[in-house]
Amino acid sequence: MRTPIIFGNWKMNKTIGEARELAGSIARKIATDRIEIGVAPPFTSLTAVRDSIKGSSIHLAAQNVYWEMEGAFTGEISPKFAVDSGCDYAIIGHSERRQYFGETNHTVNKKLKSSLSVGLKTILCVGELLKQREAGKMEAVVGGQIRECMVGISTSEVRSVVVAYEPVWAIGTGKTATPGQAQEVHSFIRSLLKELYDEEISQLLRIQYGGSVKRDNASILMKEADIDGFLVGGASLEAESFLEIIEKSLEVIA
Ligand code: PEP
Repeated sequence: MRTPIIFGNWKMNKTIGEARELAGSIARKIATDRIEIGVAPPFTSLTAVRDSIKGSSIHLAAQNVYWEMEGAFTGEISPKFAVDSGCDYAIIGHSERRQYFGETNHTVNKKLKSSLSVGLKTILCVGELLKQREAGKMEAVVGGQIRECMVGISTSEVRSVVVAYEPVWAIGTGKTATPGQAQEVHSFIRSLLKELYDEEISQLLRIQYGGSVKRDNASILMKEADIDGFLVGGASLEAESFLEIIEKSLEVIA
């Protein structure tokens, strides 16, 4: 039985004060260990959020890390610094990083390795563009991302990976994949994990869905067999909408 996992990705939003307040409001209301909950604030707010969620079950994630541990890499964040700031998770390969910052499967693979090497549980994001889906290339794209990003990740390391399937056309657009569309890809990813690793790993790894998840669609998505939770962008920027997604999900797994 996989413990569902719901993380909020705050992207480039929230000052330190705003982040502290939002994290505090979420932490005060979370009283479940049936779903793993986490937040990914901007780097500047990590330590403030770490302090706000202290004593709660909420996890702290970095939105990105670099593949080197230290050195002359102006502007980059070492995975060691993420750990030092209180993170136990990192998000790697988000489509915005791929789209706007030139990340490729090769660099995401290097980041995944460095993130895992310092003990961070790592959310690996994959997902196809609308034109790729329309051209019938969804499996080739998502399959290629999984294969190339996982190169050299051992069976023991992969246990600390969570996959987030986020169709790029559904991120921040208000368009959600239908439960059927999402389930089809999640099941495809699970079968690929079986091929790359084994049956146990494919059943163990959690696969989140991301793309305009809100209170209104959380339940129907969560009911799908291979959807193990969500990576939430816009709706995680307010405590109420984030908590509603968690409540709706809890109703489904009750
Ligand atoms: C995301 O950025 O990971 C995301 C899923 O965003 P949104 O929920 O706003 O579509």
